[in-house]
Amino acid sequence: MTRQSETELEAQLAARGWPGRPLTDEPLAADVLNTRWLAGTDAYDLLEEDALTLAWLDKHGLDAGAAAADVRRHLREARCALAAAVADPSDTAALNRILDHGRIRLSLDAEGTVETPEVADPARYAAWMCARDLTRVMSEAPGRVRKCANPPCVLHFVDTSRKGERRWCSMAVCGNRAKAQRHRTRHHGAT
Ligand SMILES: [Zn+2]
Repeated sequence: MTRQSETELEAQLAARGWPGRPLTDEPLAADVLNTRWLAGTDAYDLLEEDALTLAWLDKHGLDAGAAAADVRRHLREARCALAAAVADPSDTAALNRILDHGRIRLSLDAEGTVETPEVADPARYAAWMCARDLTRVMSEAPGRVRKCANPPCVLHFVDTSRKGERRWCSMAVCGNRAKAQRHRTRHHGAT
């Protein structure tokens, strides 16, 4: 999938006085999880607003194709299902219910195999594509979709590092916070 820029979405967030989103280069499956984020202790959720959701879909080359409120409802449901499957690889029932709404039709042309997603209900198309992208990531890079190891942080990422030991959304933010916490614990323990 061609990844388009976050620019339009950033402009809309700024116009509302919302902070920018972190981790904007993640693939669809992780990016839908990152439609919620924290800035300090304030929580933001772009799937609560039609215009932000449309800008987010546009970034991923997805059309709403139906009433934005319905698309948002299905996307929020997909976000929960994806988070559950990432947190516990055996917790796939909700994800599979979403995948049940569509299929991939295979065909062949001069260039090779063509995969065409078919989702009967247009309002579910974007949600289905998110779930489908998780199946893709899980098969291409098993175990590499992770939630940030900082418990309050809600961000997810696909670990593309060679060793596969990435734990934090960002070393500068959550990694350092955890390091400082360990330091405080050690220091406290020694006195
Ligand atoms: Zn984090």
